[in-house]
Amino acid sequence: APRVLSGIQPTADSFHLGNLLGALRQWVALQDDHEAFYCVVDLHAITVEQDPAVLRRRTLVSAAQLLALGVDPERSALFVQSHVPEHAQLGWVMQCLTGFGEASRMTQFKDKSTREGAGPTSVGLFTYPVLQAADILLYQAARVPVGEDQRQHLELTRDLATRFNSRYGPTFTMPEPYIPQGTAKVLDLQSPDKKMSKSLPDAGCINLLDDARATAKKIRSAVTDTGREVVADPVGKPGVTNLLTIHSAFSGQSVAELEQHFAGSGYGDLKKEVAAVVTEALAPVQARTAELLADTAELERVLAAGAARARGVAAPTLATVYERVGFLPPL
Ligand code: ATP
Ligand code: MG
Repeated sequence: APRVLSGIQPTADSFHLGNLLGALRQWVALQDDHEAFYCVVDLHAITVEQDPAVLRRRTLVSAAQLLALGVDPERSALFVQSHVPEHAQLGWVMQCLTGFGEASRMTQFKDKSTREGAGPTSVGLFTYPVLQAADILLYQAARVPVGEDQRQHLELTRDLATRFNSRYGPTFTMPEPYIPQGTAKVLDLQSPDKKMSKSLPDAGCINLLDDARATAKKIRSAVTDTGREVVADPVGKPGVTNLLTIHSAFSGQSVAELEQHFAGSGYGDLKKEVAAVVTEALAPVQARTAELLADTAELERVLAAGAARARGVAAPTLATVYERVGFLPPL
C-alpha cells in the first residue's frame, strides 16, 4: 500500500477544529488504504519557546487525542518525533541541500516571526520546513494529509526530493499534498481573516477538548458580518461562511442546503445550530481522551511500538542517504 506521513505539533493543551477538519479527519480516513505514519512533532514545537513539563504533558495529551479521533495503532504507526532520531539526522542533510533564499521565501516563517507577541525568532523556526521535508521523505510517503497552510512547505519538500534524486540518484518517493476541499483553512472565529491556530488568542479557537459551554460561548461570540442573511460569501461574509463550513463538515449537509435551511432566519439561529452539531461530535472524543489519559501506561506502550515501527522504515532510508552523500560507514 502507498505510504502516508503527517505530523502535528504539541503546542497547545488541545487540538482545534482547524486541525481536525483540515488534517486529522483525513489521517483517519487514509488508514483504510495506506500504510500510515503519524507523529507528534515535538522537535517542531521547540522552534518557539516551550516549558519542558508542559511540553511533555502536551505530547501525551496530543497522542491521546489522536487515538480518540480514530488513529488506529494496529494499522498505523503512531509515534513521537524525538523518539526516532533519524528525523533530526536527515534534517541536517536536507538543510545542506536547501538554499538560504529558498528557505527565506516561506511565508509561514514571515507570519510567525513577525506576529504580535512573538518572542525572539530562532534559527529553528527558520529551518523547520526543511526538517518537515525530512519527516516526509524518511518514510517515502506518497501522500501527506495537511491543511492549506502547509502547501508551500510541501512544494519545498518536492523541490528537495527532486534535487537529491538528481544529484545522488533516485532515492526519495515524490510526495503529494492531500488537502481537503472546503475545510482546508478553517478561520479564527474572532479574526476571520486568519486561520484558526493553536498559537493565536484562545477566544477564536474551538478546541476539541473545550467543554460544551465554552464551545457554545465562543461560537455565540463569533464575529459575523454586516447584513443579516445566512449565505456563503468568502469575500463579503468570511465569518458567516466559516460557520456554514463548520456546520456542513459535521452535519454532512451541503452549504447550499444549509443556505436553504436558514433562509429567513438570522445569524443567531446559525450559531445555535453550529454549537449543537459541534458539541455533539466532540463529546465522545473528549470522553475517550480522558479515559486514555487516566492511565498513561497503555498510551506509552502504543508510542513505543509506533516508534519501533517507524525506525524500521526510517533507519534504512537514512543509511541509504548517508551512503549516497559519501559518509564513510562506521565499522
Ligand atoms: P501552531 O499555531 O502551533 O502552528 P497549528 O494550529 O497551526 O499550530 P499545526 O500543528 O502547526 O497546528 O498543524 C497541524 C495540522 O493542522 C497541519 O496539517 C495544518 O495544516 C493543519 N491546520 C492547522 N490550522 C488549520 C486550520 N485553521 N484549518 C485547516 N487546517 C489547519
Ligand atoms: Mg501550524
